[in-house]
Amino acid sequence: MFKRYCPNCKKSLNWELRRKLLKQEVVICPWCTKGLRFNFKYQIVNGCVYGAVIGVFCITFFDLAAFDVALIAIVSGAFLQKYLDILFPLEINRSL
Ligand SMILES: [Zn+2]
Repeated sequence: MFKRYCPNCKKSLNWELRRKLLKQEVVICPWCTKGLRFNFKYQIVNGCVYGAVIGVFCITFFDLAAFDVALIAIVSGAFLQKYLDILFPLEINRSL
């Protein structure tokens, strides 16, 4: 399930390589030398799902105003969402 493939050459990418994305390093496929990055479509979906989960969690367990919940979701998402994004397929970074 956690095996991921290069979107260009379809060869498998190791975990170490993908972890570099978390550190915001430039990641190049070792097989076809294309640049890789998080898939923007999945990032948007993950952002929505993450925000919804945090929102429900905060409202259920803490007595917070909607504004506070939104703030917590956005701030924590900026740090944590990439760990979610890395579980999804990557796309080719055409800006390299
Ligand atoms: Zn490749």
